[in-house]
Amino acid sequence: MSDIRYDPLKNSYSVVASERRRRLEDFTLQNNNDQYDDASFCPFCGDDATKLYEIYRMNEEGSSNWATKVVPNKYPLFGIKGNVDRTGEGYYDCINGIGAHEIIIDSNRHGDLLTAYTQKEIANLFIAYKYRILDLMNDTRLKYFVGIKNIGRGAGALINHPHSQLIAMPLIPRKIKDILVIASEHYGKKCRCLTCDILEQEYQSGARVVSENHDFIALVPYSSSAFEVTIYPKHHSASYEHISDNVIPQLAELVRDIFIRYDILLDTPAVSMAVRTAPPTANRESDNNPFKSVDKAYHWNIELKPVIMPYSAFEKVTGIHINPVTPEESCRYLKEVVIV
Ligand SMILES: [Zn+2]
Ligand SMILES: [Zn+2]
Repeated sequence: MSDIRYDPLKNSYSVVASERRRRLEDFTLQNNNDQYDDASFCPFCGDDATKLYEIYRMNEEGSSNWATKVVPNKYPLFGIKGNVDRTGEGYYDCINGIGAHEIIIDSNRHGDLLTAYTQKEIANLFIAYKYRILDLMNDTRLKYFVGIKNIGRGAGALINHPHSQLIAMPLIPRKIKDILVIASEHYGKKCRCLTCDILEQEYQSGARVVSENHDFIALVPYSSSAFEVTIYPKHHSASYEHISDNVIPQLAELVRDIFIRYDILLDTPAVSMAVRTAPPTANRESDNNPFKSVDKAYHWNIELKPVIMPYSAFEKVTGIHINPVTPEESCRYLKEVVIV
């Protein structure tokens, strides 16, 4: 099992998951990527896929063939068995890695780009995120849930079979906590959601709005990395997993729209995607949760970040992005892409 270590000098957590890499040679980039494109080594293809334990499954329409399925991660960051134990080592703190780490195999077709998916296939992915989060939330040991997708080697994908991940962990990450504090303070002063206020301002400006449909909007954040886009529901909602099944096709449509723009404008870049939802509050009275207003203060969203260039030492040390293109220019370039 992994350990989650906290170092007060860095004010940061790290997951020590030594089971994932056992040999020194596993650290070489070449070995990690050797089988990236080779379907014969792919654990999600053919007979190998049929042997995987299925946590959740959706079939192709009118067929018994699977279209999307959720399976346990063979090399999980967190494991579901055991109690959450907190230990100290002098000034350091450690929590054992209780949680869940599931793989969503988006499609039964090896090597597809996300833009090759149909809207229905992208919708399947978002349905899987929803129902797996709802199920895992019944486990009160788990405090935070994130859906992620790494597309392309540059974003960290090691297998060229479309897949995503759902990770549940026994703590709220610092970055999410910081956002919850800011959102809660804004709500405490104004009784309004900060994101709803900002979306209203962005509508009026229009300078950073890339695309929208009836229920969702995609914009380039005011302070962001190159061509970063965030998708928000237009109506306030804190928790992604409360999304109605009826509007998931619209979400899929807008995600697909942005990826088509990326592929045309940036020549199929590596992209990381994250579904950021509020931490659960229902049935969690015993948690002594400091974010009582989270349902009203936080607004769920999906972050899309193309991997344009490696982060510099300055960015890593300070957490301040260097953006070679203004967010307004990023937006204009993305908007001007002609989609046929
Ligand atoms: Zn495959
Ligand atoms: Zn809101």
